[in-house]
Amino acid sequence: MVRTDDDTWDINESVGATALGVAGGRAAETNSADPLISDPYAQLFLEAAGDGIWKIYLDGELAAELADLDTQFGERMQAMIGYTASRTKFFDEFFLDAAAAGIEQVVILAAGLDSRAWRLQWPEGRVVFEIDQPKVLAFKIQTLEAHEVASIAKQVCVGIDLRQDWPKALVDAGFDISAPTAWSAEGLLPYLTSAAQDLLFERIRSLSAQGSRVAVEAFTNEFFGAESFARRAEQMERYREAAKKLGGKDIGESGNLLYEEERVEVVDWLRAHGWDVTTATGAEDLMAGNNRAVPSSLDGAVPESVFVEARLP
Ligand code: SAM
Repeated sequence: MVRTDDDTWDINESVGATALGVAGGRAAETNSADPLISDPYAQLFLEAAGDGIWKIYLDGELAAELADLDTQFGERMQAMIGYTASRTKFFDEFFLDAAAAGIEQVVILAAGLDSRAWRLQWPEGRVVFEIDQPKVLAFKIQTLEAHEVASIAKQVCVGIDLRQDWPKALVDAGFDISAPTAWSAEGLLPYLTSAAQDLLFERIRSLSAQGSRVAVEAFTNEFFGAESFARRAEQMERYREAAKKLGGKDIGESGNLLYEEERVEVVDWLRAHGWDVTTATGAEDLMAGNNRAVPSSLDGAVPESVFVEARLP
């Protein structure tokens, strides 16, 4: 799978399918004995999406068979579920704190199958703008409507690619440029080139009134390095081979959807552009704080990332 500057996708293909992977992690965590987060809608998305690698989160038998073929498989999958759960909790708390502080307008960049507008206890009058490719948002809305799930905050779809003129689309959809905003970029940055990432942050900055906040899953330059990429490619190949050996069970192909290139560290960028960085917690610390520490025997089981929050004074 080769990325292009103007590629598009549905929920079950290319970058769109990564949203199902994240929903899988949230479904697995929600269904676990002592969940860190609750996302009752994640499973609905997996069920509606048809066959693909994401089924692994619903099919205990398939996961068990893969674990038999690769002894580390179960541990690695558990580590990623712990990562997804910790990340979800981080952003849940960010939004609820911002809403409690009086911020009325939220923008979720690359919302994918994020169901926060439907599942968080938002105070009255909050608006959640969601930006993602049109087919991804359409799948989400259709699935929730089919199950008669109503949103708690007012939810507004802005179906557009983040490499196009999304600020205009956002304003056209009712975004108020004079009001403070809570922004999130979760599970997004590696799918953008370094230049597209810079442009994204410039646009966020220019649309942010005083008092705005931003939360980012920032990936370190170690993550974008060749070694880290090679390790992920090797893991992916192992699972593909294992799945093939199971015979008849197609867990799909994902290929490399990420842009392997160094970029400006998000914390540095934000500080240089007037933001006050209030939190920068490494993934390992975040997970350990949530009782989801990755066993030291597992190398590279979760992304090298930093969870950042910043405010515009
Ligand atoms: N933020 C969601 C979450 O954490 O559950 C989804 C994360 S998923 C890994 C990546 C999402 O980014 C997908 O929904 C994909 O469609 C979206 N995405 C990636 N690049 C994009 C772009 N250039 N424009 C719009 N959406 C994009």
